[in-house]
Amino acid sequence: MSAIRHALNTKRENDFAQWYQEVIAEAEMAEESGVRGCMVIKPWGYGIWERMQRLMDDRIKDAGVDNCYFPLFIPLSYFSKEAEHVDGFAKEMAVVTHHRLVSDGKGGLVPDPEAKLEEPLIVRPTSETVIGQAMGRWIQSWRDLPLMTNQWANVVRWEMRTRMFLRTSEFLWQEGHTAHADRVDAMEETLRALEMYREFAEDVLAMPVIAGEKPENERFPGADATYSIEAMMQDGKALQAGTSHYLGTGFAKAAGISYQDREGQQQLCHTTSWGTSTRMVGGLIMTHGDDDGLRVPPAVAPHQIVILPMLRDKPEDAALLAYCEDLRKALGARQALGEKIRVMLDKRPGKAALKRWGWVKKGVPLILEIGGRDAENGQITVVRRDQLWNEAGKVNFKAMAREAFLGVAAGELEDLQASLFAEAKAKRDANISRVSTFEELEAFFAPSKKYPGWAEVQWSRPTDVQLEEVVQRLKALKLTMRNTPMDAEPVSGACIFTGEPAAERIYVARSY
Ligand code: AMP
Repeated sequence: MSAIRHALNTKRENDFAQWYQEVIAEAEMAEESGVRGCMVIKPWGYGIWERMQRLMDDRIKDAGVDNCYFPLFIPLSYFSKEAEHVDGFAKEMAVVTHHRLVSDGKGGLVPDPEAKLEEPLIVRPTSETVIGQAMGRWIQSWRDLPLMTNQWANVVRWEMRTRMFLRTSEFLWQEGHTAHADRVDAMEETLRALEMYREFAEDVLAMPVIAGEKPENERFPGADATYSIEAMMQDGKALQAGTSHYLGTGFAKAAGISYQDREGQQQLCHTTSWGTSTRMVGGLIMTHGDDDGLRVPPAVAPHQIVILPMLRDKPEDAALLAYCEDLRKALGARQALGEKIRVMLDKRPGKAALKRWGWVKKGVPLILEIGGRDAENGQITVVRRDQLWNEAGKVNFKAMAREAFLGVAAGELEDLQASLFAEAKAKRDANISRVSTFEELEAFFAPSKKYPGWAEVQWSRPTDVQLEEVVQRLKALKLTMRNTPMDAEPVSGACIFTGEPAAERIYVARSY
């Protein structure tokens, strides 16, 4: 038995949900706001989100998509034009009905009946309808296509079961909206966005994902096809970490998005939409966190290196601080993962060892502790967040010459980024099993198994009636179908639900 005393009270294996809350609190990422399902995102959580935003935005712009901004309020009538869409969102829409309050005569305030809006306004749950209206105005001819826009915004979906970052009533996201001349172009864009998300999840978040198509019952309201990236959390549950939709011509018809083709004929556009949100921060925690807190992949770490001087409140501190400041500058002038290294010198008063645990819990990739003797000898001591403990159960600090560290720092960050991915992928792959009968599926997800993982099954694309039955049978086991991978190997054998010849593979799992 190791004598390690971990930084968190709750271990993942004991209570994953409690552990998750504890990481968020201890890493000072977010807190409850008093409004259910709405959170205050604190600097460390928001800093990680800002890094995600920046790197995702670069990719969006590289694809030739322009950022825009559309209003927070959407007239109800815009929604009503697309029946499936409005039905899908009706249960979770926040509605504004008045624009003024008046006294209730008892010291309180109530909506003024005189100030009732003629038409209720919806707080956007997503912006297809309002962006569609604009596209209808902006597109006239085939020369205007494709039209590719994206917005960074907050949206509101009145979720009943909320969990910080993963499912909140208000969340921050990007939503891409594009219009194309035909199905082929629109589908190409849908799949481009999906691939952008896969690459982003794996290369930036170090989070392995399966990119694939959602079954019909999981489609976005109004979409002809929905694709997702699905990640496995450390408790074996699936997290839908991003979605890309081919919307066909339904939204174009509703909003009047049409163009004159080269032959002078009027045609409906084919549209797409795709989104990722602050949910990715939750995914990051549940993918990389350990019993000492968060571990942030260097690509999204607000600080990749933190320097902790061992201050003693004595005159010698000045020389130590000068040494650390000089080290900060030297590191900050170097590059890792294609960008300048982000280094923070933590000069706050207090013991270095105490402050260290704060940064460990936040998941800073490399933590340096520098004492007066180190400064005199041109040395540093460093610990890598993913190699926190040595075999003796002690914090795994390594002493090194300053120059040597300057030479290896970038390589360490890049190696840590790759290690986190490799670790998560190995874990995920070890927790996916092929299952070929429904009985095996039931056994795989037996209640006695704490973190069963995912089952990969073969099925035939059933009729609507069969699909509903499949959904219900899975629901009884608290399971959902996640997606059919894009790179699916050919199938043989029978559908595990109907016994008919199988048509494709699909992942089945518990999910967030
Ligand atoms: P959708 O517009 O429904 O396709 O959602 C786009 C993406 O936003 C999803 O793939 C999720 O990653 C994320 N998302 C959806 N609902 C929520 C929520 N309540 N809280 C946080 N993220 C969400």
